[in-house]
Amino acid sequence: MHLSALAAAAALAVLWLAEGLYPVFAHGRCRRAHGMRNVVLGLINGGARALFFPAALVMVATTTMRFDAGLLRMVPLPPRVEWVMGIVLLDLAGYAWHVASHQWPLLWRFHAVHHHDDAVDSTTAFRFHFGDVMFGSFVTLAVVGVLGLRVEHVLFYELLLIPLSIFHHGNIRLPGRVDRVLSWLIVTPRMHWVHHSRWIAETNSNYSPLFSLWDRVFGTFRLCGDPAGIRFRLEGYADADRATLLGCLATPLLPIKSEPGRDPRLGMDANAPHARSVERRGACPSQCEYSYTGRE
Ligand SMILES: [Zn+2]
Repeated sequence: MHLSALAAAAALAVLWLAEGLYPVFAHGRCRRAHGMRNVVLGLINGGARALFFPAALVMVATTTMRFDAGLLRMVPLPPRVEWVMGIVLLDLAGYAWHVASHQWPLLWRFHAVHHHDDAVDSTTAFRFHFGDVMFGSFVTLAVVGVLGLRVEHVLFYELLLIPLSIFHHGNIRLPGRVDRVLSWLIVTPRMHWVHHSRWIAETNSNYSPLFSLWDRVFGTFRLCGDPAGIRFRLEGYADADRATLLGCLATPLLPIKSEPGRDPRLGMDANAPHARSVERRGACPSQCEYSYTGRE
């Protein structure tokens, strides 16, 4: 767990520096405040999770092992194959959980915090409501029990997932071709920006946590040729709801103000004209315009 925290800190430091030098979207004047808010949310989540997850993970994994239970143990597998299966299946479970977070209103109340961010950068990888993180941790424990995974599987998976999640939220310049090639294996920034679009056809796409395979297999893969047109954030949430720490923490208590990605002006029709120009260049009231720099 300490190794994951170290990997997160190192990845964040590198990405933060790169985003300062070569951003794809310009932050306006609020980059530091925005980043600080997201990182504080991440620290709350990390602290809350540390209180129970490591002990619960050891308990579930050792109990399953003691009874030789779990689907993976039903078929004798070479250790290396078991490792790969463990990592791949954890990622598949993460994909399913992410889809559920968009489809079930109760889960969306919590997950909306991740999506109503004004901007998307490396710190957005930390911007989750702790309820979202707690539910997700229980799902991981259930997957460990059902599949009979080892503690090491989860630790290794998280060691991969955390830095790569910071990377694919990154507001960084990556040559289009490099991004395209990488996106055959892992989730890339261009892929994940689309997931943070407020247009429902885009919000409800690119759910994969680490391997892009799942979106390709289940037909939810989507790319946008013109990053300048992606409009981040969700409609309906006021500045006080999405741009303050208390607002983020209180979001699940509010009525749902925006269904997953629905923007009433853009509609639900995936074939409709994209209408990306609607308010695209408008400065938000807090002077924190997050706009495309045109540099890629
Ligand atoms: Zn999402």
